[in-house]
Amino acid sequence: MATDWKAKEARYYMHVVNRQPVVIERGDGARVWDVDGKEYLDFTAGWAVANLGHNHPAVTEAIRRQAATLLQMSNQFYTLPQLELAEALVESSALDRVFFANSGAEANEGAVKLARKAGKLGRNGASEVITAFNSFHGRTIGMVAATGNPHYQERWHPLAPGFVNVPFDDLDAVRAATNENTCAVMVEVVQGEGGVNVPTEGYLKGLREWCDAQGLLLIFDDVQCGMGRLGTLWGYEAFGVEPDVLTLAKGLGNGVPIGAFLCKESANVLEPGDHGSTFGGNPLATAAANATVRYTIEHDVPAHAKAMGAYLTERLNALRERHPGAIIDVRGMGLLLAVQFSDTLSARLVAACNEEGLLLNPVRPDAIRLIPPLIITEADADEAVEKIERGLAKVLQG
Ligand SMILES: *Cc1c(COP(=O)(O)O)cnc(C)c1O
Repeated sequence: MATDWKAKEARYYMHVVNRQPVVIERGDGARVWDVDGKEYLDFTAGWAVANLGHNHPAVTEAIRRQAATLLQMSNQFYTLPQLELAEALVESSALDRVFFANSGAEANEGAVKLARKAGKLGRNGASEVITAFNSFHGRTIGMVAATGNPHYQERWHPLAPGFVNVPFDDLDAVRAATNENTCAVMVEVVQGEGGVNVPTEGYLKGLREWCDAQGLLLIFDDVQCGMGRLGTLWGYEAFGVEPDVLTLAKGLGNGVPIGAFLCKESANVLEPGDHGSTFGGNPLATAAANATVRYTIEHDVPAHAKAMGAYLTERLNALRERHPGAIIDVRGMGLLLAVQFSDTLSARLVAACNEEGLLLNPVRPDAIRLIPPLIITEADADEAVEKIERGLAKVLQG
């Protein structure tokens, strides 16, 4: 008799998420299979994580080798995969120094600690960080205050002090919120969880100029936009604006949990005792990330993501033209895309697409997000759009 996985989950888990009724057992490339052997095209990629596809051979081999060599050491000692990854990240980015963490939220926490230290040293103890509405920076007590979204904040009062949320893509709002206690501005270059919001031309450049003029650090949360997702290795490269601090996680280990924050030499203010992590920079995680970063660069995966993003966008726009009443917008960059509907149908559409064998994320009640592995082919993109169209037909028929 088949195991009732849903009953097990209901019995044992804290109920913090309403899952899709699909039990995934294994993956390969852009595909995953459930416990009944049904195949799905995975346009969620473990939440924008499996950028090279599930079980990528280069990453699997690195994990296999490292698992048989050394899993964990304390950061009292040097370890090899960590040094190699640090070199790969610094040499491929505009940043000069790195600290390894275990998740996106933790990377952002570290970035905020660095910003406060910089504020202490350079701006008379300034400690406040300006962040944007509809942002997403993680779920820790600190990061729910940074995340400008009542949905993530309202149950956790009192919110941690030291964060001011202002409208995204609004330079004047940042200028107005800046005072002598401000130490940094932190944004995603494209908001992911907030519904895939691309800022207008000049916003990020304007933030750079404002931060330079005011002596503030500019922090880009590249947790979702980095590692090729926007069609450039680092999200900020798509806009030609360099941050002082960059945070990474999601795609960095292609599925092995790891986060990092990097800074320019000019913002390199942390000293011994200021920060640390038991698992941060763990040999297993850094070996996986090292393989992921090097493969991504050597095979120019970001260029492929850019081409596939353009192709998928074109196909989605053709779909929109066939369903002008239901689909009102297709937006995003690279392979971080969203389809906006005129109605709140995304939960029903995602359920219908599950049946068709396509996994999607209902990023908003009236929008779906497409965050496939970056290695998808045109045939995969065609298949996804066909499945969305069949799912949409079912939903519109009610
Ligand atoms: C997912 C995400 C985070 C949080 O990462 P976790 O690893 O879940 O803590 C932070 N910032 C952005 C932009 C994200 O997309």
